[in-house]
Amino acid sequence: MSDQTSVETCRWAKPTVRAPFPYWLEGEDKAWTCFRDEQPRPLDDPSVCHGCPRWEPHRVHVSELPGR
Ligand code: SF4
Repeated sequence: MSDQTSVETCRWAKPTVRAPFPYWLEGEDKAWTCFRDEQPRPLDDPSVCHGCPRWEPHRVHVSELPGR
């Protein structure tokens, strides 16, 4: 099975522009923010989500989507 872990499929990732102040101010440079920890963490490089041990799927896993 291929690696399904990515920032787009992790339940803890949200677009930075939807993060609370002041985190959303970084939205232009950091598109995604990780909400897994107590404090939101805008991601310098969302490729860190590939293989992240704390990745968790959204309620519907990408492998369950039609055409997968
Ligand atoms: S760093 Fe890990 S927990 Fe945070 S959004 Fe990426 S995959 Fe999810």
